[in-house]
Amino acid sequence: MHEAAIAQNLLEAIKAEAQKQNAKPVSVKISCGVFSAVNDELLNFAFEAAAKDTICQGAALLIEHKPIAGRCRNCKTKFDFDIYNPHCPSCNGEEFALSSDPPLLLESIEFDTE
Ligand SMILES: [Zn+2]
Repeated sequence: MHEAAIAQNLLEAIKAEAQKQNAKPVSVKISCGVFSAVNDELLNFAFEAAAKDTICQGAALLIEHKPIAGRCRNCKTKFDFDIYNPHCPSCNGEEFALSSDPPLLLESIEFDTE
């Protein structure tokens, strides 16, 4: 299961940071490209399961899906590519160059500072 492996990797990274900060993480923000086959619900579920009985238990996972930048080959307009509406917003063209999908990133961790 794709999400379980991601959750385990995330957990290791967060645990290492929590040890450094000597604090309990309360929320974790990650981001990934819209094409990354990450299911928010599954990832949350997998993370919750992986975090059980660790310092990360109960930490909220916030997943942000980053748009992909597209550039129209016809009118050169740059736009955020929408997978549900793959057209140039300016000329409605269907020929464009896409930047690569942003990878899954651990953006920030919020710790319980009490
Ligand atoms: Zn265009």
